[in-house]
Amino acid sequence: MSRRHSNNLQALSEVAYFTMEVGVEAGIPTYSGGLGVLAGDTLRAAADLRVPMIGITLLHRKGYFRQHLDSSGNQSESPSEWSPEKVLEPVEPRTTVTVEGRTVALRAWRYDVKGISGHVVPIYFLDTALPENSNWDRELTDHLYGRDHHYRLCQEVVLGMGGIALIRALGHVEMQSYHMNEGHSALLTLALLEESIRRNEVASPGEREKEAVRHHCVFTTHTPVPAGHDRFSMDLARQVLGEKRASILTSADCCMDGMLNMTHLALSLSRYVNGVAMRHGQISRDMFPGYPINSITNGVHAGTWAAASFQRLFDSYIPEWRHDHHYLRYAITIPCDDIRQAHAEAKRGLLAEVERRAGVRLDPSVMTLGFARRASTYKRADLLLSDPERLKRIVRQVGPLQIIYGGKAHPRDEGGKDLIRRVVRAAEAVRGQVHIVYLEDYDIALGHHICAGVDLWVNTPQKPQEASGTSGMKAALNGVPSLSVLDGWWIEGHLEGVTGWSIGDSWRTASDSAAEAASLYDKLEYLILPTFYNRPDAFARIMRHAISLNGSFFNAQRMVAQYVQNAYFHQRDEVDTA
Ligand SMILES: *Cc1c(COP(=O)(O)O)cnc(C)c1O
Repeated sequence: MSRRHSNNLQALSEVAYFTMEVGVEAGIPTYSGGLGVLAGDTLRAAADLRVPMIGITLLHRKGYFRQHLDSSGNQSESPSEWSPEKVLEPVEPRTTVTVEGRTVALRAWRYDVKGISGHVVPIYFLDTALPENSNWDRELTDHLYGRDHHYRLCQEVVLGMGGIALIRALGHVEMQSYHMNEGHSALLTLALLEESIRRNEVASPGEREKEAVRHHCVFTTHTPVPAGHDRFSMDLARQVLGEKRASILTSADCCMDGMLNMTHLALSLSRYVNGVAMRHGQISRDMFPGYPINSITNGVHAGTWAAASFQRLFDSYIPEWRHDHHYLRYAITIPCDDIRQAHAEAKRGLLAEVERRAGVRLDPSVMTLGFARRASTYKRADLLLSDPERLKRIVRQVGPLQIIYGGKAHPRDEGGKDLIRRVVRAAEAVRGQVHIVYLEDYDIALGHHICAGVDLWVNTPQKPQEASGTSGMKAALNGVPSLSVLDGWWIEGHLEGVTGWSIGDSWRTASDSAAEAASLYDKLEYLILPTFYNRPDAFARIMRHAISLNGSFFNAQRMVAQYVQNAYFHQRDEVDTA
């Protein structure tokens, strides 16, 4: 059936974007970090660019979690309850999905993302909390990244296979592209394979059926370390999917080392695959030889992440920026004084928020460093504090510093939790000389304040584990330069002393924490603090470059335009006549 001959309105949607997590607003806690925030920014930019897209995700009634920290930095968690019915619209019709042989009823809630000229990209949040389901099944869409492998695989069935069922129930006979944002949704390929088997009236999938699925699938991988990829034992796969579906996957050659590997499944059934920065694409090609893997570097949604003061500034000098983020290039014409003023306003807002949340009053005239992201050990939040004596000496000899931290550790990540404790302990060791606050419950709302309000954004991932990173892009958009290890997007965005500074001087070499800490301190002592305190005009020019050179490129409109040009509609004519 060709969509071209269908005048059904629904058929105008051509891209279905599947994601386990999505961050669209602070009141919808269905994200854990960069992956979900990126998904939200992608959908917003698609709406700006009038891309005929829909989003598919899970409702996560209990959210990710709320983080509490005691005075020693010990993290505890509570559910992040929210009321979907207050912010989302219930959708008809309902559908079902088969989990462990049971028919599980499924409904969806809709959230409309409106683009700058009014185009709407709806997001459908799948929900199994229906009276006809068993207690266990009702909880399937409760917790983001919660519980065990069994629970996770059942959730992935709901997301991938339930998502396809919903799309059909909504009246979409076919989509041009199904975009898997990370491997969690890879079981959508199984649902498409089954459709293809049925259509061709064959018993099991052959090359023709696989090719038909591939034609429609786009896969973005986000993790440069093998341990980060979702894998399930074949025993569990057979239990959850049933023998028949497990054997379809096996005969489609989608398993690896006797495991159901979601990345492998998505790789083998996608027409277009990409990593999320140039370097990450290269690493992914090394990790998965034999697959043509491209790169599309991530970006952030400028209309969302620019602070109110910068939105007003851009509106007055480059009003075209809202429709087209490329115009941020011309921020280079904005007087430095105006940029400094917009930044001072964002900084006041941040410091007021710090006082409100933590009861700590920071000094607006003091250089303020920001470090906020998931508390994952590879991100090394404690590197900046690894030599307290050196830090104290720098502050005594060059100028004062204050540091704002934030970030949650996954409830089962003991290493991440320990990292938070180490930061809090190290903060004690420099007390009275460097003012450090670790703010609880880092989320989108706090991210807005921190990324825009600090003077320098610090990033210390262990190479090459940062696939892209996006928080430094949010900072750049607000005129906040980065001091970062050369990994992920910063390899592309870094121009030394122009858009910020590097920690270490090569992206090629493996990370060496001692050498990187020394480089970090050297840059602060000899370059960054002296520029900030003694050459404010030079520092303001660096701020302006961050916006003009990096804000104009590392944004979500450019990223979505690249997906449109390279991935979504690439083989449109061939597919239409197939
Ligand atoms: C942007 C963002 C992230 C991503 O931070 P990285 O430094 O790229 O890891 C994580 N969490 C929140 C709440 C964000 O807004």
